[in-house]
Amino acid sequence: MLHKDIEEVLVSQEEIKTIIKALGTALTEDYANKKPLFVGLLKGCVPFISDLLKELDFMLEVDFMDVSSYHGGLQSSGDVKIVKDLSTAVKGRHVILAEDIVDSGQTIQAIRSMLLYRGAASVRVVTLLDKPKGRVVQLQPDYVGRTIPDAFVVGYGLDYQEFYRNLPYVGTLKPSVYQTENEES
Ligand code: 5GP
Repeated sequence: MLHKDIEEVLVSQEEIKTIIKALGTALTEDYANKKPLFVGLLKGCVPFISDLLKELDFMLEVDFMDVSSYHGGLQSSGDVKIVKDLSTAVKGRHVILAEDIVDSGQTIQAIRSMLLYRGAASVRVVTLLDKPKGRVVQLQPDYVGRTIPDAFVVGYGLDYQEFYRNLPYVGTLKPSVYQTENEES
C-alpha cells in the first residue's frame, strides 16, 4: 500500500527487482576471480546491497563506510565527513563502492579518491539511482540501476529526516510534508 506521505512512485518494487538482477549479472561478469572488496555506504545502501549481494556469484568481502554530506536535509552540503571508516585494508584490492543514489557526485568522488590514495588497485561505483542533472563534479558511476529526474526521492534506503528508509519502493514526497516541517520550526 502507498504511504500517505508519498506523492508519486518513481521506481516500483518490481522494477527494483529487475534492476538489481541486471546489476548482479553485470558485476558477476566483470569481477569473476578478482575477489573484490564490496563497500556499502551507510545507511542508505542497506536495502539495496542486501538484495544485490544475493545476485553476486563470485568471491568477495563486504565492508561499510558511513559518510555524511546531506545532514538530514534536501541539499548536499558538499562537505563530506567520514563518520565510520573501513575496517579492511584496501591496498592492492579491487573495490566496488555501492551507493543508493549519486547526485552532485561529490560524496563518491571524495571516497573514490581517498581509496585510490590508500592504494586500491581499482575503484568502481555501483549505484541504484543516478541523478546526472545534479552533478557538480565530473563523475560517471560505472554501474547505474536507473537514471531519474532531478527530484528529491525517498524509500528503499533513502531518507528524509531519517524517515522513509523502510519503504519498499522509491518515490517523491508530498509538498505538505516539507510545509509541515517548516511550520514546526
Ligand atoms: P552527492 O554527494 O552525490 O550529492 O550525494 C550523495 C548522497 O546524497 C546520497 O548517498 C544520499 O545520501 C544523498 N542524496 C542525494 N540525492 C538524494 C535524494 O534525492 N534523496 C535522498 N533521500 N538522499 C539523496
